[in-house]
Amino acid sequence: MPQTLDPELRRALAERVRYCHEMGIYDFYRRENAATDGVSSAVVESEIREEMAARKSAVVPAIAATNLVAITSSSESGITDPIAALQLIREDLGDCTRCKLHKGRTNLVFGVGSPRAELMFVGEGPGADEDAQGEPFVGRAGQLLNNMIKAMGLRREDVYIANIVKCRPPGNRTPEPDECETCSPFLMRQIATIKPKVIVALGATAAKNLLAISSSLGELRGHWYDFKPAGSDPSWPGARLAVTYHPAYLLRDPRQKGETWKDLQMVMKYLGIEPSKKAGE
Ligand code: SF4
Repeated sequence: MPQTLDPELRRALAERVRYCHEMGIYDFYRRENAATDGVSSAVVESEIREEMAARKSAVVPAIAATNLVAITSSSESGITDPIAALQLIREDLGDCTRCKLHKGRTNLVFGVGSPRAELMFVGEGPGADEDAQGEPFVGRAGQLLNNMIKAMGLRREDVYIANIVKCRPPGNRTPEPDECETCSPFLMRQIATIKPKVIVALGATAAKNLLAISSSLGELRGHWYDFKPAGSDPSWPGARLAVTYHPAYLLRDPRQKGETWKDLQMVMKYLGIEPSKKAGE
């Protein structure tokens, strides 16, 4: 006999399906241990109910994180136009050879998006597609990030996207501490110029470098961190920083997309973005 879902559960299910579609997932599978439709739907229902309860009861403290990367040179300070300030930072980078990552790069990947973005995503470093095109997150992981942004009701051009290091590490290896340390001051200047309300660190490397905390991604997720580069405008209160999975990781383990959606919903709630709001509507 068909059962009716209560409206809140139906809405949560519809939201989950819409999110999966936005992220390019159209095929759903039934768990092998589900002997009947009743068991299968009960599992899904119970998971969604748990998720709803967790969201309602989530207490998300802001944790003060000391960012150890100070702005060492800020020739753009005093420039009120963020477009001009970002141009100046780019000019300061020039044909950068400050660390060994310059040796293998095709293009330096500075960052892209709105110079007045309220939301900023920071990843680890450019991959092959990004290196070829000179723009962050343009490969498969970039498509997924675009879908995540769209699922939030935003457009790629509404946010700002950058990486900890601006040149591709050989073989897509994790950037080394000296490389992150050398490149990060430029990212700090970008952040201090854009003055976002929220920064989302994509993956453990971005999170650990921004927060100077050596914890697992699991420990870092689900919290707000206060973030403000040392030496930035005293009148700017700083950003709140959240941590989630890197889209490249989600391509390898799509089961974590639900967890990522929770992180993004935390961000949306803080920014006052309605889940149903669509860009351009
Ligand atoms: Fe310069 Fe950063 Fe590229 Fe290193 S990664 S060469 S510091 S732009």
